[in-house]
Amino acid sequence: MALLVNRIDKNVLKKRLQEEKIKRKTVSFYRYVSIPKPKELRDELFLAWSQLNCFGRIYLANEGINAQMSVPEDQWEAFVKHLNTYSYFKDVPFKHAVDGNGKSFYKLIIKVRNKIVADGINDPDFDPSKTGTYLNAVEFNKAIEDENTIVIDMRNHYESEVGRFDRAFCPDADTFREELPQVINHLKGKEDKKILMYCTGGIRCEKASAYFRHKGFKDVNHLHGGIIQYAQEIKEQGLESKFKGINFVFDERIGERITQDVLSTCHQCGKPCDRHVNCKNDDCHLLFIQCEDCEKKMNGCCTPECVRIAALPIEEQRQLRKGRVKNGPECLSVYKSRLRPNLAEILKKDLSLRS
Ligand SMILES: [Zn+2]
Ligand SMILES: [Zn+2]
Repeated sequence: MALLVNRIDKNVLKKRLQEEKIKRKTVSFYRYVSIPKPKELRDELFLAWSQLNCFGRIYLANEGINAQMSVPEDQWEAFVKHLNTYSYFKDVPFKHAVDGNGKSFYKLIIKVRNKIVADGINDPDFDPSKTGTYLNAVEFNKAIEDENTIVIDMRNHYESEVGRFDRAFCPDADTFREELPQVINHLKGKEDKKILMYCTGGIRCEKASAYFRHKGFKDVNHLHGGIIQYAQEIKEQGLESKFKGINFVFDERIGERITQDVLSTCHQCGKPCDRHVNCKNDDCHLLFIQCEDCEKKMNGCCTPECVRIAALPIEEQRQLRKGRVKNGPECLSVYKSRLRPNLAEILKKDLSLRS
């Protein structure tokens, strides 16, 4: 019986990926389609895609598939052919990344979930198939020039922090489900206005646009294929990018640079920077923005406590982890949200304690 999960250490896998000689491409695709037995399908796909040496992160649910993948170029045709043997995925449109060398994932993970996008919607009258109007890059650019339109970023705050469209309303939310009510609230009384929304690859807007129409908004438009496809069209057609900065992506690359604009600042020293990193203390792994100077000063860590822990021998780090109460005070999860630490404040306090 073939193994249906990957059990090799992540550092070994990462090293293997870096040393690999073959070329890969990063693609994403999704489809809302009724899948009655996602668990069985999951195992089939895992076996087939392992044989094709594909990596990535894929979510399956009764409502469809959402996939981010790294596929070897010489297996691309075989991959597409196999995918098309399933009626669910026939001729599914692929979005190709514009940036990077395809080394976006180092293993294959396929998970079965309740929904492919957790939306928190429990309204039985909501019909997600009644989506808004799709706009391509040319149409979106034209529409955004009209100051009467309302531009909505349907992503989380750490995504819009490093890149966004001009004039966009960016919800201060950590998750998509938190965002929907926030945006609805923000748009109260503007049901007749023209709404332009966008997200990373289009999957969130597909649902959000239908939800907004359900809530009485009359003219709901969304960017077809999201920022990923927009970037591709801008490049191919030589258009001006009205999206500025970095398109945050959920893989090893963390971001795809779309324009040279830097919209955010280093969370530690405050100078302009849009480099997302994970804290080098493996027990923390906090996602934050850190400039190269601060990286050197802090050894890639988020706080002095993490610098101290990351410098300990591996064995001692393991012991610390074992003894730790999950979410206990000594663990960095004390932040209200792991995704929005106020590191500048924490560092200030820490320095004042020392002086
Ligand atoms: Zn800095
Ligand atoms: Zn840390």
